Amino acid sequence: MSKGEPTAADLGEFGLIDRLAAALGAPSDERLVVGIGDDAAVWRAGDAYVIGTTDTLVAGVHFLPDRVAWRDVGWKALAVNVSDVAAMGGTPSFALVTLCVPPETPAGTLDELYAGLRECAEVYGVTVAGGDIVSSSVFTVTVALAGAALVSDGGAPLLLRRNAARPGDLIAVTGPLGGSAGGLRGLREGTQLEHPSLLEAHMHFWPRVDAGDIAVRAGIRSGVDISDGLVQDLAHICEASNVHAELRLDRVPLHPDLIPAYPQDAPLMAATGGEDYELILVGSRGAIELADSALRRHLELPDDEQLTIVGEITAGPADVRVLDASGSEVKFARGGWDHLKRR
Ligand SMILES: [Mg+2]
Repeated sequence: MSKGEPTAADLGEFGLIDRLAAALGAPSDERLVVGIGDDAAVWRAGDAYVIGTTDTLVAGVHFLPDRVAWRDVGWKALAVNVSDVAAMGGTPSFALVTLCVPPETPAGTLDELYAGLRECAEVYGVTVAGGDIVSSSVFTVTVALAGAALVSDGGAPLLLRRNAARPGDLIAVTGPLGGSAGGLRGLREGTQLEHPSLLEAHMHFWPRVDAGDIAVRAGIRSGVDISDGLVQDLAHICEASNVHAELRLDRVPLHPDLIPAYPQDAPLMAATGGEDYELILVGSRGAIELADSALRRHLELPDDEQLTIVGEITAGPADVRVLDASGSEVKFARGGWDHLKRR
């Protein structure tokens, strides 16, 4: 390495993405509808639109192999990808699975992994169509997942894009947040068994394919899944759409077991913790209300609000301002997750 050359950690995840995208050059294939920079890529195939995404779990980085069930790792390996398809408003279909396996791994561990992966595949209608296995010193599982976008009568794909938020739009979330951060904290502190529902939220969450599909049918055109944290994922929408967001922290729905477990930190964990895999949906009030009532009917919960409005989009600097109940700005030490920055 030459002196002064930046490392991956210096660039950070998002700086590295920009650099690698520049190395590839601008895509020239006119069938590409959504390239690098959204939850998933989208390309045209005949009259259909394919949604493609991939995500990796690394032992010791994304999960603690001695503290979690391998079955849950298998579920999560597919579910994080299903969530990215949901975040585009699509429906998942076929997956490829690549395993990097230390040779001494017991076969029963992989049986457990695949039991969880199969469970997730069956719930979400995914078929595992192939993959690859290589030897490695660290266990990793990579899933590449394809899905389909809903297509309008005119033949256009109906998608939830990061760049489609407009001033005047409302910001809604599809469910309570912070449970996953609580589960992760329990794992780190060795108290995970005291809060089983938080551990469940961290390892066995349910991607919101239902909500993404209903959202695009209701006319919502902007959304993202909450993987890095509510504030940071909302900031991705602000940057891509060049709009400002005002987020009301007191309106963010909290996982019901988060408050008793971590009363001091619950709101902050819900705003910045990440890996909740609920959706942020951004659209007009009419579209949000239409989606909310459709989701209530779908889930047969007519009296329960399904989309919680947590803020609004305005014209202004392309970032997120977090406000408390009195309208005062809340400052955070950190906004969310970057996969390469050390902390
Ligand atoms: Mg995502």
